[in-house]
Amino acid sequence: QLSERLKRVAAYVPKNAVLADIGSDHAYLPCYLALKGDIEKGIAGEVVKGPFESARNQVRQEGLSDVIEVRLANGLAAVESVDGVTAVTIAGMGGPLIASILEDGKEKLSGVERLILQPNVHAKSIREWAAFNGWSIIDEEILKENDKIYEILVLEPVSSHVSYNEQELLMGPFLMKEKSAVFMEKWDRESSQWKRILLAMESTEQTVEILAKKQELIHKIQLTEEVLHGEN
Ligand code: SAM
Repeated sequence: QLSERLKRVAAYVPKNAVLADIGSDHAYLPCYLALKGDIEKGIAGEVVKGPFESARNQVRQEGLSDVIEVRLANGLAAVESVDGVTAVTIAGMGGPLIASILEDGKEKLSGVERLILQPNVHAKSIREWAAFNGWSIIDEEILKENDKIYEILVLEPVSSHVSYNEQELLMGPFLMKEKSAVFMEKWDRESSQWKRILLAMESTEQTVEILAKKQELIHKIQLTEEVLHGEN
């Protein structure tokens, strides 16, 4: 049974895509899509031997070896131009790691029509990468499973320049408009955490670094509270 998190990631993969799932672990996501007949071909990329072997076993067990190829490679090095990959999924890692995989493998993304990214933390790094590299956020989702909150970002290439303001980069342009209960919970938690850190900082020596850190926290608290308690 696939997790709700990965089911939601799968929901954004276009029908008949040639999919590369990077950091695939057990290859559950490409297997799920291939079993439904939703993808034409899949590549499951893994950089670590153990998960690579789990992925290979899973694909064999499901009888999907002719649809999904499992490759031991770092990030987008798993993708060759002859593969004709049209969609890439990268799920279950931190935002900065996902952004660095995209940055390092940029040239592999030329024919790709959609990126579906699911950062566990710091989705901001991905939004910043997108804005700098000609990708537009076309949809976002936030969900809670087993008391953990996850974000999903769907990106497509654009020829025009895209820019996002500070709040959009931090909280997500779609998510901050939608303001779902899970979104409110996430940012309420974050903001409370920042306030606790601020308070703790009062009892330490007020060095230049501490003062700068305090300013940064105050700024982030203001940004989030504006969205949480604002009109729109
Ligand atoms: N994508 C699956 C999911 O969402 O359930 C697995 C997530 S698992 C927490 C992260 C996986 O990414 C690990 O198996 C790890 O080995 C792999 N990984 C980390 N960095 C990678 C990289 N640069 N290239 C390929 N795989 C990577």
